[in-house]
Amino acid sequence: MTDVYKRLANHLDNLPAGYPATDSGVEIRILNRLFTPKEAAAAMALTLFPEPAAAIAKKLEKKDSDIETLFFSMSKKGLISRSGKAQYEYMAANFINGIWEYQVNNLDEQLIHDVNEYLPQLWEKTWAKQKTQQHRVIPVSKTIPVEMNVMPYEKAESIIKNQSKLVVVPCICRKEQAMIGHGCGNPLETCLMLGAAAFFYEQNNIGRSISQEEALKILNKGIEAGLVLQPSNSQTPFVICMCCGCCCLVLKNLNKMDAPAKIACTNFYVSISQEDCTGCKSCEDICQMGAITVEDESAVVNRARCIGCGLCITRCEFDAITLVEKQASEKYAVPADTVEEYMNMARERGLM
Ligand code: SF4
Ligand code: SF4
Ligand code: SF4
Repeated sequence: MTDVYKRLANHLDNLPAGYPATDSGVEIRILNRLFTPKEAAAAMALTLFPEPAAAIAKKLEKKDSDIETLFFSMSKKGLISRSGKAQYEYMAANFINGIWEYQVNNLDEQLIHDVNEYLPQLWEKTWAKQKTQQHRVIPVSKTIPVEMNVMPYEKAESIIKNQSKLVVVPCICRKEQAMIGHGCGNPLETCLMLGAAAFFYEQNNIGRSISQEEALKILNKGIEAGLVLQPSNSQTPFVICMCCGCCCLVLKNLNKMDAPAKIACTNFYVSISQEDCTGCKSCEDICQMGAITVEDESAVVNRARCIGCGLCITRCEFDAITLVEKQASEKYAVPADTVEEYMNMARERGLM
């Protein structure tokens, strides 16, 4: 019985976001909680390329209708992904972002404890070694100087205004932390799903469909709460996350590093004018990365820790902080789409 879960773990590890083995076997326990043995075996027939049930049935030498029923039910449980509205196609899902996030309305304490035990190892064995992360950081738009000509995909408002379908979903990181007694009180309904992902979440009754206007209000609420804007890492993202340093699986692990700015995919950082700074500490308090320290009534930014979120600028009443765009030679080339993002990740992990 364990064997099928080990093979599924290996299958997931061969997807771009990885699912590496651990000494404790916690990754197998997680799969055991989520998949029946039949579902685990079936999931291994899928790749990240969408296929209709009939094509998968042919490969597995099973009846089309049996495969359609099984895969539809698995996609409703968030064990695999599904695209299309009436005629469906099925594909594998990364564990993160994917299977874990799909469980946002299906969490229990044991699953949360297992995933929290696993995440630091997943981080160290895969993402910490990669150049291409699953999220990138964009600055709060109003902190971008007018003379700075940034691309529309670097501004959350432009991304939102480009969408015909938006669904807001509860933030799984804050929800699961609250369920185990570590809630931070930041807004919960903040993950903005975009495009095809929004349709999938809506069809699966995870989250609710919203207008652009409401999405912009949610965005502003997140910025006011001091949340870091992290869209998925492409010019056409499928989600805009709004993250806190205390709960977010990405920021929490970035925070443990000496130089998070080396790993975070961002094209910005900030500089502080010593002349204008009064040492009020508002910027130090809001920074989720511990990038600012105020000593002798003067704030100093540690560039190795600054991920360019711009939140400190929104808090400085003395206009002492300026957003700076990286030099061309240091700039992060944002993947055109999720396919390019996943190809980059797979290449960096030696999978192709
Ligand atoms: S990545 Fe950020 S917004 Fe997304 S679920 Fe985690 S904390 Fe919430
Ligand atoms: S918020 Fe502005 S004035 Fe206050 S310490 Fe930071 S940089 Fe200085
Ligand atoms: S100093 Fe902190 S709050 Fe300011 S942009 Fe950098 S990471 Fe964000």
